[in-house]
Parts: sequence; structure tokens; C-alpha cells
Amino acid sequence: MGSGQVLDIVMASAECAPLAKAGGLGDAVPGLAHELARRGVRVELILPDYDLLRSEALRDLQTLSRPVQVMHRGQPWPCRVRVATLGALRCVLIGADAPETFFQRGRLYGEPDDAARFAFFSRAVLAYLGQSGRHPDIIHCHDWQTALVPVLLNEVYRAAGLAHSRVCLTLHNLGYQGLVGPEILHQVGLDAERLMVPERLLDPQGQLANLLKGGILEADFVNTVSPHYAWEVQHSEQGMGLQGVLQAVSHKFGGILNGLDPEAWNPATDSLIPVPFDQEHLALKARNRAVLRERLGLREREAPILAVVSRLDRQKGVELIAHGIERAQASGAQVVLLGAALEPEITRRFERLRERFAPDPDVHLELGYDEALAHLIYAGSDLILIPSLYEPCGLTQLIAMRYGTVPIARRVGGLADTLFDANDSDRPFGERNAYLFDDPTPGALDQALARALQLWREYPHYFYQLRLNGMRADHSWRLPAEDYLDLYAFLLGH
Ligand code: ADP
Repeated sequence: MGSGQVLDIVMASAECAPLAKAGGLGDAVPGLAHELARRGVRVELILPDYDLLRSEALRDLQTLSRPVQVMHRGQPWPCRVRVATLGALRCVLIGADAPETFFQRGRLYGEPDDAARFAFFSRAVLAYLGQSGRHPDIIHCHDWQTALVPVLLNEVYRAAGLAHSRVCLTLHNLGYQGLVGPEILHQVGLDAERLMVPERLLDPQGQLANLLKGGILEADFVNTVSPHYAWEVQHSEQGMGLQGVLQAVSHKFGGILNGLDPEAWNPATDSLIPVPFDQEHLALKARNRAVLRERLGLREREAPILAVVSRLDRQKGVELIAHGIERAQASGAQVVLLGAALEPEITRRFERLRERFAPDPDVHLELGYDEALAHLIYAGSDLILIPSLYEPCGLTQLIAMRYGTVPIARRVGGLADTLFDANDSDRPFGERNAYLFDDPTPGALDQALARALQLWREYPHYFYQLRLNGMRADHSWRLPAEDYLDLYAFLLGH
């Protein structure tokens, strides 16, 4: 990019809300992309053209007359490309007619050939850029699904014209790395024998190729979605086997906190809550609490509501969640849970808990995914429990705070970067916003919960202040976007 020219970014991702979203990645990509576009950056998103794409949000959707030719099993495979705009962003959708109906599965992930599907997509991203003559300044990749992009760029496409693009790889969750056999590399035209060695793609633990490891080694910069998680993945088991690899790339590794879309989560304008409120009208939160109680069949009484809104996944500390529900109920609080599990064993665990508490007018467990109910819970609750075993960034605590709900959380990952304990923090009181604990044990959780409940009961004015502190903090994409712009400038040598 010459001086005076517009910075040109391509984001390659498997998810982008509202088009296709399974988790935090789906929110982060458009959040960052829109904020960059607002600052005059040219941002183009490249996504798989899934059959379940929610295309209502797209404008000016059109199919390019020339398909992109993607090498697959040694043959060029013609793939349809559609382009559209999503707000201020240009969207490129690749591969409606990809081989083996790769993107016609009725879901984003969970297919036995996920690795082949996204390896193909990674190759398609570069094929599209090469064939359309696009030479972006930065190709920004996300998670294992697009981690093969920098590998393919260095192995194939730099020589084929994409010589100058720099690659940034953002790690949203080290729990998923993309472990594949050599055939997947062959399929996308890579030399598996040469690449499956310890200093390249070979997984540290075994015989397979690790796509994420390849991306980490080959990208020009790698970042996690919070600074604390960046430290944890280098120095603890949270690196999920890639600690050594991440330490070896310390010179090009860091953490940048995710933001939250302040419009999607704004208690003053939220059409999904019965009584909108803001800092000046925080008393109105009580009316949302009343509606929440009525909706979930909780009795009206002088007690705080402790909420859990979470995927019921081991990462989220399911045992601690179950314990927290029991403990909070025994301590006189009311409890609501909204959560969905993928693992049948975890579903059964929470079904049993739901049965046990079914007659209790102070506890309600809702097993499933319900966007509207999530909004009402954030608006109507007093405390939210987030006992994650690991948390790359975490949106739940940021959303809860916007709605004046105080987190009780484990001091890990992005929770440690965004939450400051009411009693035990080096932050000024005006920045304290939560109750934290360190050990992933019931005892540690109980202690934090007891402190929170005590403040609620005995010092309501201070509790009110904690709510306000959380509501005041700026967790929009403004600061993260500045960090990414600094990073891009650094990568481009400016
Ligand atoms: P992760 O992406 O690991 O699930 P985050 O804290 O980053 O965790 O984001 C979780 C998001 O998903 C939040 O917006 C939360 O409100 C939402 N969420 C989680 N479980 C449910 C559910 N059962 N129903 C509705 N929304 C949910």
C-alpha cells in the first residue's frame, strides 16, 4: 500500500454473523470488519457459500460470470462465486458447487470431512484472489478453518502473483486445531511428505498434520482474542499441545481483545427486552426482573437472580455451573439457566438437575438455545456465573455488564482482562465490576459467590455501583480496531 492509498484487507472466515454463525468467531469477524470499514479501510469478507447462509442481510447479490478454478485432487474444479454487500462490507461467497457438496450439509460443522471442506475453502480463497487479480495488503485468517491459507500462500501462491500480501491469523479457540491425514494436504495440492515434519505441519503429539500449527508457523502475525489467553496458551496446558510452537513464534505473537457490537447489545434500544433502560434509569431493570420471573415461573420475592447463559460444554466448566446453581439456591438466591449441550451426557446431567429443581419456585433451568430469552435474562438478572475452564475472550461477561448484571467468574483468559474483582484488584473502585476466583473448584466458586451475595444483601448501594461500573466501560470495537490497524501497519512496514 502506497501512502495515501486505502488499506485493503481480505478476511477469510468460516463464520460471519448474521450470515453463518456457530460461536464467538461469527460475532468477532463482522464486528472488527465493520469497525475497520468505518475507518475507511477497504474490507472484503470471503466465506463459504453454505446452503444455510442467512442471506436476507445481503444486498446486491450477484453471481460472477466466471467461476473460480480451484485445484482439488489434481484437477481444477470450477466453483461458483457470488458477491454481495453486507452493510459497508463486500462479501465474496465461494463454492456453491464445490466438490462433494462441501457446503451443502445443512450445518456449518460436525461433518466427518470438515478438514477436507475447509482445506478446500482455504485453497479457494487464494484461487479467487489470484484469478481476480486482487492483491490485498493483508489477508486476515481466523482459526483452524482458514489456517491453511498462509501455508498455501507460501507454498503456491506467492510465486503465482500474490507476492506481497501479509497474513494475520487470529486464534479464537485453541481447542480446535484441524488434525488431518496426508491425503487432505495432497487434495489441496500440497506436498504432504515434505510438510509433515516437526518443523512444519506435523502435530507435536502424533502422526497427523495440524492445520493450525501450520498457520501459526507460516502467518506473518498470530494473535489470540485476549492478551491473557495469549499468555496462557504459551505457558499452560491451554495451549492444547501447541505451547512450544507458540513460544517459538513469540516474536510475532500477541493478544488483542475482542469487542462487542454495542448496537446489538444495548439495553436502551433492545427490542427483545420489555423495559429498555440505561445507566440513568437503572431502576427500570427491576421491571425486567419482574417479567423474567413471570416468564419463567419464579416467585416474586426479595432475592437476587443469578443467571447462567452458556453453551454447556466442558470448556465452560459444566460441573462448576451445576455446583453453582445448587449453592446459589441453598444460599437464598434465585437461579435461572439457559444453556444447550452437544454432548448427550452433559444434556442428561442438566436434565436431572432440572427435574430435581422442577418443584422449586426459585430455580428455572431452560435447556436449549433461545436468543430472545438470553436478552431478557441479561436484562432481568443481578449476577451471572461464568466459571469457564478456559475462555479465549468471552462475550457473555461483556454483554452482562452492559445490562447491569454483575459477573462471578473464573480469572482466566479474556475474563481476566475485562473483569476486576470488587474487593481484590489493583484497579480503582470505579473500574471494579465483578467477583473473581482462581481455582476451578467448588470451594473457590463458593467464596466468590458468598462475597457477591453479601454485598447484594448488606450494601445495596455498593452493589448498585458495581453494576454502574460495568455499564460504563467501553467494550466496543473502537479500541480493538485501533490495535489491529497498528498491527497491519507494522506488518506492512509503515
Ligand atoms: P462461546 O463463543 O465460547 O460460546 P462467548 O461468551 O464468546 O462464548 O459467547 C457466547 C454467546 O452465545 C453470547 O452471546 C451468549 O449470550 C450466547 N449464548 C450462549 N448460549 C446460549 C443459549 N443457550 N441461548 C442463547 N444464547 C446463548
